[in-house]
Amino acid sequence: MKTDIEIARSVRMKPVTEVARQLGIAPDDLELYGKYKAKVPLSYIDREKRKNAKLILVSAISPTPAGEGKTTVSIGLSQALNRIGKRSCVVLREPSLGPVFGLKGGATGGGLSQVLPMEDINLHFTGDFAAIEKAHNLLAALIDNNIQSKTRSLGLDPRTISWKRVMDMNDRSLRHIVAGLGGTASGVPRETGFDITAASEVMAILCLATSIADLKRRLGNIFVGFTYDKKPVYARDLHAEGAMAALLKDAIKPNLVQTLEGTPALIHGGPFANIAQGTNTVVATEMSLSLTDYTVTEAGFGFDLGAEKFLDIKCRAAGLSPNAVVLVATVRALKYHGGQPLKELKTPDVEALERGIVNLQKHIENIGLFGLSPVVAINKFATDSDEELQFIRDYCTMRGVPCAVADVWGQGGAGTEELAGLVAETADHCCPQFKPLYPLDEPVTRKVETIAKNIYGAEAVDYTPKAKNALKRIADLGLDALAICMAKTQKSLSDNPALLGRPKDFVITVRDIEIAAGAGFLIPITGEIMRMPGLPEEPAAEHIDIDDEGNLSGLF
Ligand code: ADP
Ligand code: MG
Repeated sequence: MKTDIEIARSVRMKPVTEVARQLGIAPDDLELYGKYKAKVPLSYIDREKRKNAKLILVSAISPTPAGEGKTTVSIGLSQALNRIGKRSCVVLREPSLGPVFGLKGGATGGGLSQVLPMEDINLHFTGDFAAIEKAHNLLAALIDNNIQSKTRSLGLDPRTISWKRVMDMNDRSLRHIVAGLGGTASGVPRETGFDITAASEVMAILCLATSIADLKRRLGNIFVGFTYDKKPVYARDLHAEGAMAALLKDAIKPNLVQTLEGTPALIHGGPFANIAQGTNTVVATEMSLSLTDYTVTEAGFGFDLGAEKFLDIKCRAAGLSPNAVVLVATVRALKYHGGQPLKELKTPDVEALERGIVNLQKHIENIGLFGLSPVVAINKFATDSDEELQFIRDYCTMRGVPCAVADVWGQGGAGTEELAGLVAETADHCCPQFKPLYPLDEPVTRKVETIAKNIYGAEAVDYTPKAKNALKRIADLGLDALAICMAKTQKSLSDNPALLGRPKDFVITVRDIEIAAGAGFLIPITGEIMRMPGLPEEPAAEHIDIDDEGNLSGLF
């Protein structure tokens, strides 16, 4: 069997100018990054046209650690929509180098549903991550320079500064560092650290910004820390937002590439789904809606996390409303929720499936809470038995939920036409009924409770003393009306990764609440949340190589 990179390399790509022509973009307007990648100017966003196009959100049940194939299904679905005569573009996040070199690998799909050129997209791509890193680190440098300044100091108390530095690498030894060592000429020593670039608030901001003016406004709103006399300091107080936005002048333009079947793909921005909104830029989504009839996009992790944020944060901020939600389910994940051990998931076991299906049930109910219609996509794996696939189909049919088995991986668009037909039909007929889960102007604790009780199925929410302090700080700063961006494990509907299926009678514990005032949300932290991952025992990097002709291997 061919590997993903072998499949990717066996396809003759179209020049990106040809892909652009399909979308009605003049070749002259493209900013070419070689033959197969291009940036598209924001002038191709047409806010009137986008209102008539259909937005299809791809989400999933609670995943196993390997991921259940949302990206692969998104790509296969968009390929299939084009095959059945619907003009469609898939819009995705850019991969982070951390997972590429670590455990999970790239994020360009797999099998016969991939985006190309996969080597480039997985490594550096068009340099957006580098620009975001620079903009983020510019603010860090301005902060330390202000602390050092004799004449222009704002009196920042270094112990209150939450802004760290970022780098796009899994490098745990940089998590906690002391900067400014080396005497009076080399800054003021203070404890700080590095996060991975995907966790930067600048990434979250770029992905929510609707224009350059909005980008600057949000960058200026970044909360930095307090002065010694307890006054808040924002990035705007350091006059940082202009230069930060200047560094992002190209990064704000969506990147156009193609799928294995030569259909268009926009890949833009890559915020984490744990501490941020976990979905591509608003501008790329709007651009796709302006240029095609069906936009397929993905939100990270399961519906309880990624999709809730997609709806309550991104859609609310940008005035978007999905016309259908595709819920990706796999036989293996549902068996895992039914208690089958990870190592045995390839063995057929309908009883485990029967026990685990409650996880699917809860996610279907949750989609209804937003007034949206689900379509269940069973992402077919070679090891699934016919009996198992039929069990899920029957389950959905009995509840009136459209459902199709999709062989996105083995057959690409050709194996996904049934799903594409159901999705197009649902999107065409489902009036956009999207309603956010909570109003922004409620107290923070009420908003968190609404999410925890309705989406997760929790009994109550508990706050540690640290989190209670954070609530007071947020109130003092007048930031109560921000949206909520829950940081929770994706493995369970609860905040305990060990509780599989559909947990009941549990309490969510909020340990702290971070402020992302520029992005426009508060981040209640439940559990251990990693902002700077480490490499695993055997990193994927050890198997990545390049030959004398410049051909890469080992990416997946
Ligand atoms: P997600 O977006 O949900 O995290 P991905 O689409 O990135 O998941 O898929 C995770 C991994 O599983 C990828 O390496 C992908 O190639 C692989 N994969 C996805 N679907 C299938 C499938 N049906 N059969 C085999 N491998 C698959
Ligand atoms: Mg994905």
